[in-house]
Amino acid sequence: MITVQARATFGPEGPFKLTSIERRDLQPHDVLIEIKYAGICHSDIHTARGEWGPVQYPLVPGHEIAGIVAEVGSEVTKYAVGDRVGVGCMVDSCRECENCRKGEEQYCLKGNTGTYAAIDRYGQYTQGGYSTRIVVTEDFVVRIPDGIELDVAAPLLCAGITTYSPLRHWGAAPGKKVAVVGFGGLGHMAVKLAHAMGAEVTVLSQTLSKKEDGLRLGADRYYATSDPETFKKLAGSFDLIVNTVSAKIDINAYLSLLGLGGTLVNVGAPAEPLEVNVFSLIGHRRSFAGSMIGGIRETQEMLDFCAEHRIAPEIEVISANRIDEAWERVLASDVRYRFVIDIGTMEQP
Ligand code: NAP
Ligand code: ZN
Ligand code: ZN
Repeated sequence: MITVQARATFGPEGPFKLTSIERRDLQPHDVLIEIKYAGICHSDIHTARGEWGPVQYPLVPGHEIAGIVAEVGSEVTKYAVGDRVGVGCMVDSCRECENCRKGEEQYCLKGNTGTYAAIDRYGQYTQGGYSTRIVVTEDFVVRIPDGIELDVAAPLLCAGITTYSPLRHWGAAPGKKVAVVGFGGLGHMAVKLAHAMGAEVTVLSQTLSKKEDGLRLGADRYYATSDPETFKKLAGSFDLIVNTVSAKIDINAYLSLLGLGGTLVNVGAPAEPLEVNVFSLIGHRRSFAGSMIGGIRETQEMLDFCAEHRIAPEIEVISANRIDEAWERVLASDVRYRFVIDIGTMEQP
């Protein structure tokens, strides 16, 4: 076993404490990664607080991992020591089912192995990226292009791919009107990506407090959802709506903003059910859909797209002793627009 330093929460309320955890010894196809940066995703909070179901503690969250390969197993062919790499929300899957074979490992029919809070094929409880090193099979590691610094690369591994995948699947492109609901970690990436894909982009945020940022980062329009006029003005006007909100919202109000045949895709994952009135759908042949991260191949494609289009998240780098504070700010929608932990500060008191 390899002992590594980590920040763990010992219960749903926190706080984070410095501790050590064990990584498995390198198997022939494993890569040992020296983690440099780890992003903070709202899913870390949902998971650690038990909102999606019970979890085991201590828990080390973190599935937006960027670092450098420090060691490789005897049969590794894809990576070498010194390579700049990333790991996202999953570290394994069955690799044999229909979905895995299609490169959609996130939808593995046997369930993919989450980067944290899952039991892996070795029977070990997985622990995530708020730590100094991680061991991952080479097939679930992606390459970070040279043009992307490691700190901004980290959030691409979840916020980036989670928004890239549905935008591609539902055809964000020139001539398409795309709305993004919620302007946080995922939301601001959705805006940058949809803009780069050539779509006309509208942000639907609770207030106008981040409007200048929204327009600067690629939105064509920006509206406050606290203003009832917004829903009247924009009725029936979008081809695609990406909902990134982490809480329950009145989904019927947002469905009314779709035009004929439009799709609202939910990537936000509140624990509470969203109540869909069928009349919000049938009148204009609308679809209500969901999407979960993206496969490994598509994650690599997204990274290459970001390098080509010079897209990077807006980040606030924090030291490892400030995770609790950052989580509180995420919960208060006070994030601009992704917190990234500098893993080099792991041992700071
Ligand atoms: P985030 O940074 O906290 O952003 C969420 C945004 O939602 C906030 O910035 C806020 O935007 C809006 N919001 C929050 N509470 C709200 C409320 N009560 N009413 C209306 N709007 C509200 O979170 P994130 O990291 O982007 O994650 C967003 C959600 O996606 C989470 O539920 C997360 O678990 C989920 N997620 C899903 C996947 C997937 O694979 N499907 C992957 C990653 C994350 P404004 O301030 O602009 O209104
Ligand atoms: Zn995430
Ligand atoms: Zn599978």
